[in-house]
Amino acid sequence: MTSILDLTKEELEEKIKPSFRAKQIYQWIYQKYANSFHEMLNLPKLLRDELAQNYILSPLTLAKEEQSIDGSKKYLFTLQDKLTIESVLLPMKNEQFDKDGNRICHARYTICISSQVGCKMGCAFCLTGKSGFVRNLNAGEITAQVLFIKKLNNISAERRVNIVYMGMGEPLDNLQNVAKAVGIFADLDGLAVSPKRQTISTSGLSRQIAKLGKMDIGVLLAISLHAIDDETRGRLMPINKAYNIQSVIEAVKAFPIDMRKKIMFEYLIIKNVNDSLQSAKKLVKLLSQIKAKVNLIYFNPHNGSEFERPDEKDVAAFADFLNSHGLLCTIRQSKGLDISAACGQLKQRRESELA
Ligand code: SAH
Ligand code: SF4
Repeated sequence: MTSILDLTKEELEEKIKPSFRAKQIYQWIYQKYANSFHEMLNLPKLLRDELAQNYILSPLTLAKEEQSIDGSKKYLFTLQDKLTIESVLLPMKNEQFDKDGNRICHARYTICISSQVGCKMGCAFCLTGKSGFVRNLNAGEITAQVLFIKKLNNISAERRVNIVYMGMGEPLDNLQNVAKAVGIFADLDGLAVSPKRQTISTSGLSRQIAKLGKMDIGVLLAISLHAIDDETRGRLMPINKAYNIQSVIEAVKAFPIDMRKKIMFEYLIIKNVNDSLQSAKKLVKLLSQIKAKVNLIYFNPHNGSEFERPDEKDVAAFADFLNSHGLLCTIRQSKGLDISAACGQLKQRRESELA
């Protein structure tokens, strides 16, 4: 059955008359966290019955939850066809209180979501890539991940979250559904997450970056670069053979971004592969042409992987080099390392447990 989460408010308005009902339904779902159509008491009973007959409220069920000591939580969800996907809740900032116990700062969260079951790109370091591609998620399956996680954690509706498309799958290989989800998330009667708080991470599908740019929907872009020469990048990421580094850089240059924002480049550091200062130097040169910032990520080893986690001192030296040469850089704290938070790893473990 169709999930109502797969419909934009405009699509719902077309289907349900009078059209102001769509707004009410959106508010029930995304702001009052209704668990059934029967709770939607300001709708006529007939409409509630009709909705319950024609739609399901959630295309996901929770299969597994793991909490890390640093507070991040990883979720494995089961889709209607029994396939599973992962999402992660990352608390970025804790609630803060003054000495009298008044709250002075709300908690801030980032939710990392999947866009596909599996992935076609086959990156050598990625578990999701290893298991191949199964299917695209529809917009409802994408939006449900954020709604579910907010609900499960009692994160109130007014608390805006940041959304990153960095879970399983290549979002730009499922551009139509991802762009639709961006719009559903942004709806002010829904979760009201502005596109400026949504970051699409891509392995660098240059042509799709251009398409997304033309759509001009206002999302932020993150590029998984991971290497500075085509030979190394091609070894890590087969997609580099179709879209080499220069084509990605050109696509990024043409991408519309807010004057105050920068494009994020993710750089996964792998021991003895791309962790030298020589690489850092080339990275500075490559990115000097664009308004960029870099996020360094420790490679997270998994069973059977041919690569190793880099040494902390090498990552620190790499970061220092970038920062001291004017390239803003952060190191992604290995949030959730103890719960195997790199994409695809929870799913993989679950499958081997069940095997
Ligand atoms: N397909 C998109 C988005 C999903 S992957 C992309 O590649 O950008 C999200 C991030 O997880 C990527 O930056 C990827 O490099 C990272 N990742 C994959 N496997 C990892 C591992 N074993 N350790 C650490 N990060 C990993
Ligand atoms: Fe796909 Fe991203 Fe994993 Fe590469 S890193 S296989 S693009 S999910």
